[in-house]
Amino acid sequence: MKIFNDIFELIEYRKGLKGDVGFVPTMGALHNGHLSLIRNSIENSDFTIVSIFVNPTQFLPNEDLDRYPKREKADIQICKLAGVDAVFVPSSSDIYQKSEPVILAPNKKAYILEGAKRPGHFDGVLRVVLKLLNIVNPTNAYFGKKDAQQLYLIQNMVSTLFLRTKIIPCEIVREEDGLALSSRNVYLSDKDRKKALNISKSLKLASKAMMKGEFDCDVLKNIMKETMKELEIEYIEMVDRDFNKIDKIVLKNSIILVAAKVGETRLIDNLWI
Ligand code: AMP
Repeated sequence: MKIFNDIFELIEYRKGLKGDVGFVPTMGALHNGHLSLIRNSIENSDFTIVSIFVNPTQFLPNEDLDRYPKREKADIQICKLAGVDAVFVPSSSDIYQKSEPVILAPNKKAYILEGAKRPGHFDGVLRVVLKLLNIVNPTNAYFGKKDAQQLYLIQNMVSTLFLRTKIIPCEIVREEDGLALSSRNVYLSDKDRKKALNISKSLKLASKAMMKGEFDCDVLKNIMKETMKELEIEYIEMVDRDFNKIDKIVLKNSIILVAAKVGETRLIDNLWI
């Protein structure tokens, strides 16, 4: 497996690859969620490239950039064992220049939900993803449905900027007890982890209610709120696949989104219906 720190060395390597290239962008501290994206890519591509880059522009000033978990050696080992062809670990000073054009995420969909709680976050996400797609020039790029709004905004960027990469959405990977895998789960104490389970539990209860025919979003929200009453709920919202808020769930075109704080740790989860 090749390891690249230098952007231009990676570009040269990429030029020499004949066949489909799958790309999995990550911020490292790899877990089984990342691994499922990587496996998906390996299965469907001739070559797989994984990037590990904790992108500073997507963190707000008061967020956890400085303490975001870093496990580069272990991450590289995981990629090697999984059968990745190349890992790309650029530096922030190489990725970002002092003076450069900056892409801004579309206002309407980037400043609601996650974007309302983290204004400017998606500008940073799109800024780095655009750069990474330009560097790697992959045939397919794999993103998790766990970050549903991010996935939507990336798909929107790729289609409206006429980029040539195909975005492949990947299913959410959970622990056996339901907790959605996240690099930030390492921040949770045992007590907080138990509390955090109520997030996925609330989504399961909403799902059960829908199976019984309940599609009213207010009713579903109340069920979820009750389950998460020990947590600091940031939002529970229902949207269609274009991220417009909805009052009634429509099968195959709805997403229930949740964000909550457990202690100091902010977690998100969602359910695609
Ligand atoms: P991150 O390292 O958190 O930036 O995540 C890198 C990619 O992995 C993103 O496309 C995420 O949506 C995806 N991802 C993170 N956690 C999960 C999960 N539990 N299941 C599926 N994909 C995930």
